Amino acid sequence: MFKSGVYYLPMRIYRTAVISTFSLLLILSIWLGLPPEEDYIPAYALASKVIVIDPGHGGCDPGAARGNYVEKDITLAISQHLAQKLSEAGAMVVMLRTADHDLVGDGFSGTLAARKREDLRLRVEKANELKADLYVSIHTNADPSPRWHGAQVFYNRSSQIGKLTAVMIQEEITKQLGNTKRKALPGDYYILRNTTMPAVIVEVGFISHPQEASLLADSDYQARMAQAIFAGIAQAQVRSYDSEIELYPDR
Ligand SMILES: [Zn+2]
Repeated sequence: MFKSGVYYLPMRIYRTAVISTFSLLLILSIWLGLPPEEDYIPAYALASKVIVIDPGHGGCDPGAARGNYVEKDITLAISQHLAQKLSEAGAMVVMLRTADHDLVGDGFSGTLAARKREDLRLRVEKANELKADLYVSIHTNADPSPRWHGAQVFYNRSSQIGKLTAVMIQEEITKQLGNTKRKALPGDYYILRNTTMPAVIVEVGFISHPQEASLLADSDYQARMAQAIFAGIAQAQVRSYDSEIELYPDR
């Protein structure tokens, strides 16, 4: 029915069309607002797990440093974000330091190298005494060349759960931050050799790479890195329930 070139819809059809459109938009916005299924984090798997977080270095041992960027500050900041997320999921978190110091007391009189060895020994000893379920050490990487970048996770090759945890953390960092192609690797480090529980060392990136260093010092990036590590730990805990962890072969 045309009247002076204007097409009139019957009111009933018009109303139905408006309601349908709004309903469709509502459903679409709810659907888009939901996280995709693959981002689901099985945080329940962390309940009552004892997790030791080791913010690398501290006090008179700054770790690696480039310009204004200092490893001990970055490791502490990311560890604090991680501790909060793990605690919220119900894990019992033990931070080996919460401020700028090492674990060696004031009375120590040896060389700086001896002090660093003693510091590492005390970190491992504390975790072993606690009979923790997992040891997560946070470090930044460094190289004389500024070209290398990318986070990388290390594990003790004789620990299947350690390896599984490292692989899952590496996968989450790769997926969530999208700036590393590195793979989790076995590593021959004091902490990995001497802890009596599954342990991983997360090298969160290269402080010697200018762009990555500035990201590592950024609070939002630190929180995103902690979120990826958290998700990886949770994914590994769920999978470790499965006695068939051989299902996850070398990768
Ligand atoms: Zn370090």
